[in-house]
Amino acid sequence: MPRRISGQLVIATHNPGKLAEMRELLAPYGITAISAAELNLDEPEETGSSFAANARIKAVAAATAAKLPAFADDSGLVVDALDGAPGIYSARWAGPAKDFNAAMTRIERLLIERGASERGRRNAHFVSALCAAWPDGHVEEVEARVDGTLVWPPRGGAGFGYDPMFLPEGHDRTFGEMTSVEKHGLPPLGMGLSHRARAFVKLAERCLG
Ligand code: IMP
Repeated sequence: MPRRISGQLVIATHNPGKLAEMRELLAPYGITAISAAELNLDEPEETGSSFAANARIKAVAAATAAKLPAFADDSGLVVDALDGAPGIYSARWAGPAKDFNAAMTRIERLLIERGASERGRRNAHFVSALCAAWPDGHVEEVEARVDGTLVWPPRGGAGFGYDPMFLPEGHDRTFGEMTSVEKHGLPPLGMGLSHRARAFVKLAERCLG
């Protein structure tokens, strides 16, 4: 039996881009979201070997420390021609300076080295694993993806991370060229396009409603 989320919720992220997206997604459900950064919670080490394992580590750590239900996402970019890299290491590829221009340049260099310059060989997808955890150890978990192609040079200054390089399937603008509503807005405002929006819809059907 899925457990329902109500009242106050901790969002277990120190990433301001993700925090803003999650707050927008939760707002229609009347959930007050406070971030792990605002509560000065430590960031646990992401030692899992999958997106789902890392989401669970973050959500359980925040729920235990804050004694409130907590919500975490682990996400990243999976590039087919790079055997799934950067994957769960997507944040780390940007280094301590969080330099995503350098991370995107690295991906492009590796794609060229592997002869992946034509569009058909540049498939990639974003994955979002979401975990809601309660202080008593209960968890609810979902995962979703959005497929697309990588473009070069990067386009657009919106969003964060690898957005300017990612052209979602069926669209002619990158995530970096879309407004936040176009990227992750839910109906009736948006189409629930992003991996996080899609995962959120699954979790909302189960635990919010
Ligand atoms: P983590 O889930 O905080 O470990 O980091 C995920 C990393 O994946 C982010 O720092 C970004 O580099 C990348 N990423 C995840 N979601 C998105 C997105 O929606 N747009 C662009 N990059 C993303």
